[in-house]
Amino acid sequence: MTRATLLYKSDPVRGAVWDRVFREEAPDIALEVWSADAPPSDAAYLVAWIPPEDLARSAPKLEVLFGLGAGVDHLNLSSLPPGVQLVRMVDPDLTRSMVEYVLYAVLALHRDIPAYLADQREGRWAPRAVRRSADRTVGVMGLGVLGRAAAEALRDLGFAVRGWSASEKAIPGVACFAGPQALPDFLGACETLVCLLPLTGTTRGLLNAELFAALPEGAGLVNVGRGGHVVEADLLAALGSGQVSAAILDVLATEPPAPDHPLLRHPRVMLTPHVASATHPDSAARQVIRAIRRHREGLPLENTVDRRQAY
Ligand code: NDP
Repeated sequence: MTRATLLYKSDPVRGAVWDRVFREEAPDIALEVWSADAPPSDAAYLVAWIPPEDLARSAPKLEVLFGLGAGVDHLNLSSLPPGVQLVRMVDPDLTRSMVEYVLYAVLALHRDIPAYLADQREGRWAPRAVRRSADRTVGVMGLGVLGRAAAEALRDLGFAVRGWSASEKAIPGVACFAGPQALPDFLGACETLVCLLPLTGTTRGLLNAELFAALPEGAGLVNVGRGGHVVEADLLAALGSGQVSAAILDVLATEPPAPDHPLLRHPRVMLTPHVASATHPDSAARQVIRAIRRHREGLPLENTVDRRQAY
C-alpha cells in the first residue's frame, strides 16, 4: 500500500507535536504542512480547524476532512466538496476535560458557591442549608459523546440525573427524554440545567425566556455548548427575576465579549473563556492516525458529521 498523506492546517506549535507523533507512530502516513502558496496537494486527508477556502483547488484529491473540534458550527458545511467526508474530534482526553468542567460547575451550583463568593466580597458569613446530591435533579441537554459522559459522572456522584436528546436513549440510572415534545417534561424538574448540545439551526437560541420559564424557580444553568444556544437578554432577565438563580458559562455569543458585556461582571454569573475542554494535540493526532488506517482498510469512518443535521 502506498503511503497516505495528511495535510495539516493549524498552528505550528501544535503542529510540532503532530509531527513528532506521526514520525514516531505512523511511518505509513506522511504529514504535510499546508501553505497558502503551495501548489495543489495530492493528500487524501486534511486536518484543520478551518479548512482552506478553495479546498477543491488546493486539495483536489481530498477524501476526508478531520475537524479539530468536537463541534462543527464554525464551518460552512455547504462549501465543502460533496464527496468529502467530515469527521469531528472525539477523543477520550477531550471528554475527560469536559466531564471535569461539568462536575465543577454542577457542584459549584449545588453547593451555592456563586452566593458564597458574593458573601465573601461583602464580608458576610452566612451559612446555607447543605442539600444532598440525591435530592437535586440535574438535566443534561445533549446525550452525545460529551453529554452522556457528563450525565454518567453526575449520576455516579449521586445526583438525580435526566437527559434530553433528539433520538431515544437508554442510559442506566439516567431518565432519558427525546424530542421537542418531551422538552417541557424534561425541563420541569431540572434544578440545574447543563447544555451540551451542538449549535445547529434547530438548537440556536433554544435557551430562551420560554425555556427558562419551564424550569423550576431558582434553577441554575451551566452552558458548555456554544454561546449561540443562549438568548443572553433572556438569561439576564431570568437572572434578574430569580427564575434562574445563577449561571456558569464557558461560552458566550461573542467571544471575547465587549468589556461592558452585562454577563461579564454579573454577581451571579461565573464565566470562563471557552476552556471547558480542549483538543490535546498528541491524543488528537493518535485519533486521526487510527481513523486514516481504518479508512484505508475500507472500514467505515467513525464520528462523521451528518451534513443535513449539521452535527
Ligand atoms: P454529539 O454530536 O456527540 O452529541 C450531540 C447530542 O445533542 C446528541 O445526543 C444529539 O441527539 C443531541 N441533539 C442535537 N440536536 C438536538 C436537538 N435538536 N434536540 C435534542 N437533542 C439534540 O456532540 P458532543 O457531545 O461531542 O459535543 C456537543 C457539543 O459540545 C459540541 O457540538 C460543542 O458545541 C460543545 N463543546 C464545547 C466545548 C467547550 O470547551 N466549551 C468543547 C467541546 C465541545 P442524538 O444523540 O439523538 O443525535
